[in-house]
Amino acid sequence: MSDYKPKTIAIHGKIENRLKSGATTGVFQSTGFEHESAEDIENVLSQRKFGYTYSRINNPNLTAFEEKMNLLEKGIGALSLSSGMAAVSVSLLSILKSGDEFISGKSLFSGTYSLFSDLFVRFGIKPVFADSSDSREIENALTEKTKLIFIETIGNPRCDVPDLKKISAVAKNAGIPLVLDNTLATPSLFCAKDFGADIIIHSASKYINGSGNAVGGVIVDTGNFNFILNKEKFEDFSAFQKYGSLAYLAKTRRQVHSNLGTCLSPQNAFLLSMGLETLSLRMKQHSANARALAEFLSKHKKVKKVSYPGLKESPYHEIAKAQFGENFGGLLTFELESKEKAFEFINNRTFLRNLPNLGDAKSLIVHPASTIYIDYDNATKEMLGVNDRMIRVSAGIEDTEDILKEFEQILVKI
Ligand code: PLP
Repeated sequence: MSDYKPKTIAIHGKIENRLKSGATTGVFQSTGFEHESAEDIENVLSQRKFGYTYSRINNPNLTAFEEKMNLLEKGIGALSLSSGMAAVSVSLLSILKSGDEFISGKSLFSGTYSLFSDLFVRFGIKPVFADSSDSREIENALTEKTKLIFIETIGNPRCDVPDLKKISAVAKNAGIPLVLDNTLATPSLFCAKDFGADIIIHSASKYINGSGNAVGGVIVDTGNFNFILNKEKFEDFSAFQKYGSLAYLAKTRRQVHSNLGTCLSPQNAFLLSMGLETLSLRMKQHSANARALAEFLSKHKKVKKVSYPGLKESPYHEIAKAQFGENFGGLLTFELESKEKAFEFINNRTFLRNLPNLGDAKSLIVHPASTIYIDYDNATKEMLGVNDRMIRVSAGIEDTEDILKEFEQILVKI
């Protein structure tokens, strides 16, 4: 199946794993799985044979979704999880332990920042924040204790785009993995593995789902980084040596994911798999709409600033073009004169939805400073790329003309 192109993979997944019943879709809403003999279940649990036992550990719907994501990201294996936050925490907790440090980009989704700065520190894991658009700042932040680098492909909500090849070279030289949150780009914009990502994670609740009807996450191991070969720095992986190149996924699945119980539900895995079928079509339309809207807003006299990597004047445009080609995703932000104007804008909308999700087929707007980032002081908000005047837009896949008309009409009123 890996010889097929991404659109075909996103629809068919792994052909060998078609349902024997002939059904083209189905939800395995079963907590446990029966086995004919005691020997059989022992073989599955001791990993001598592939099979299912209990849905916290695995389930056919999860496998189908994981296989698609793995093929799309050109990985060596994938693990689905209950949310994007579960993907961030579990992917890192498999590598980090008390006393370790890691470098994180400063441009971060608020939940990720809170996980790193509020929760990880309580367990002795120290995040060091650096500007991900400056690979030298990342390099300078390295210490003996640094175990990984974590960045977002396109920062939410700053809309900055790090140079992945440069950052991956920093990680490689230091003998540590680069963990990439690829939520905003998705495998449809580019192949993150080819740009040096070692572990790729997603909030699948966004573009992968596409309809705002399921929360989920996924971790893909690209196979670029071998923890066993680097076992001096990652001695905890020795116990998983028998899994060879799959040691990271085995450790992540068995030691962290299963024990924390961060499993995806079969119903949500089914919805995420359905979403994947149209991902590449949607990403083109999200990108086209976001670009048209960013261009319109950047010329409007009531708009003070627009951030979108697809804009020629964006400081990240050239690197975004080198990495993604012609499509730059669906997320942008713009700033009005004041917080009051931003609220007025939101309160004058017609079909736009005011909610803190993104990646939905429906166009969404939100005032990040008073919602997603409400718990942070102004200095932290600024570090994360948020201010009171800013509105975040997740451009949907409606007709471009209607989106532009809606924004134009609101801007006339305020
Ligand atoms: N990563 C990014 C870039 C996000 O935007 C989000 C959520 O908005 C997450 C991770 C967390 O995902 P979830 O809400 O599925 O837990």
